[in-house]
Amino acid sequence: MAYKIITDLCNGCAACESECPNHAISHAGKVYTIDASKCVECEGSYDTPMCADLCNTDACVPA
Ligand code: SF4
Ligand code: SF4
Repeated sequence: MAYKIITDLCNGCAACESECPNHAISHAGKVYTIDASKCVECEGSYDTPMCADLCNTDACVPA
C-alpha cells in the first residue's frame, strides 16, 4: 500500500515533502505527488504515515 496526494486539496505548503523518510514526495510547481513505488506508509520510520499527520488539508490519503 501507499499514500497519494489529492491535488485539489493540496495547497502546496511543502510540509510533507521534507519529512518523508523515503523521499517519496516531490513537486512540479505547486503540484505535489507521492511516488507509490517509494511510499511504504512510513513503516519502520514512524508509527503513522507522517505526510497524513502533517497535512493541514487532509490531502494525503491511502491510495
Ligand atoms: S506515508 Fe510516509 S513514506 Fe509514504 S509518502 Fe507519506 S511520509 Fe512518505
Ligand atoms: S502537507 Fe498537504 S497541503 Fe502541504 S504540500 Fe503536502 S499534501 Fe500539500
